[in-house]
Amino acid sequence: MITLATISPCFNEEEVLPDSVQRLSTLFDRLISQGVISKESRMVFVNDGSSDSSWDIITHLHNANKHVCGINLTTNRGHQCALLAGLTTAVDWADAFITIDADLQDDLEAIPQMIEHFEKGAEVVYGVKVQREADPLLKRMSAEAFYRLQRAMGVESIFNHADFRLLSKDAVKMLTQYEERNIYLRGIIPMLGLPSATVDDVISERSAGQSKYNLGRMLALAIDGITSFSVKPMYGVIYLGLVFLVIALLIGINVVWSLITGVAVHGWSSLILSVWIVGAFMLICMGIMGLYIGRIYQEVKRRPLYHIAKILI
Ligand code: UDP
Ligand code: MG
Repeated sequence: MITLATISPCFNEEEVLPDSVQRLSTLFDRLISQGVISKESRMVFVNDGSSDSSWDIITHLHNANKHVCGINLTTNRGHQCALLAGLTTAVDWADAFITIDADLQDDLEAIPQMIEHFEKGAEVVYGVKVQREADPLLKRMSAEAFYRLQRAMGVESIFNHADFRLLSKDAVKMLTQYEERNIYLRGIIPMLGLPSATVDDVISERSAGQSKYNLGRMLALAIDGITSFSVKPMYGVIYLGLVFLVIALLIGINVVWSLITGVAVHGWSSLILSVWIVGAFMLICMGIMGLYIGRIYQEVKRRPLYHIAKILI
């Protein structure tokens, strides 16, 4: 029997917390009585510097329900940091970890399926959003465009999967070896190379409160998701420089033609040609420098070079 820890980050979630704990508790009771998870299983709520009464509610729920644990961060560090704080705190006492947002918009019925996959050997089980009609249209469209852009940039990630996933103890231990500051778990986890599975996740509406992901936060996460894993945008700069060079060539032909036909205004040819040629070379040089900076960036992150799955001695 496994000991499960659910990890839920909370930022100003006072409206949803009592209901979320209630729903998770019902699920825990059912899974415990079915012998799927042990009585030591816990739901961990990480308070990410909320300015409302979230922490008081967590404390209160902890006193009333022995399955409820709380972690209080001193200040708001963001969703990804809160998840990592919960995972690293629980790593010693649980066998499997499911990260799920405190608003429980994800499908609770996917949790028993995740555990089934875990018991069959999957170390990572991704919840993949199959129906997200409950999400606003703009959010759905921007998210899907982002997943596509990420893929085009060569970042290995699971389409329509956010942070609802099961991780094994080994997976969490490997994760803690990534010491980078800009954390984007959706990009790091596929890099672990562990056996994985997916389950369907039907998104429902937030029962109360509002989304904490405004446009600014979504953009920041998207930028992290690409720049932490790919230097491909720098190739884009170099290609743009090459396009500028071609334009310079076409203008060069036009300049020669104007000189032959005698319609050129004095001084125009040298000016316009140098603008495009210098622009092209500057872009190409910036792109090349960007690639070198990208290399330095990769080095300073000091990501583990490999993960060992098994050793036979
Ligand atoms: N969250 C957090 N810190 C933040 C922002 C959000 O811990 O700075 C939590 C939030 O409480 C929720 C989860 O991250 O549990 C996802 O946020 P939300 O539900 O607002 O995002 P959405 O579902 O709208 O994408
Ligand atoms: Mg939500």
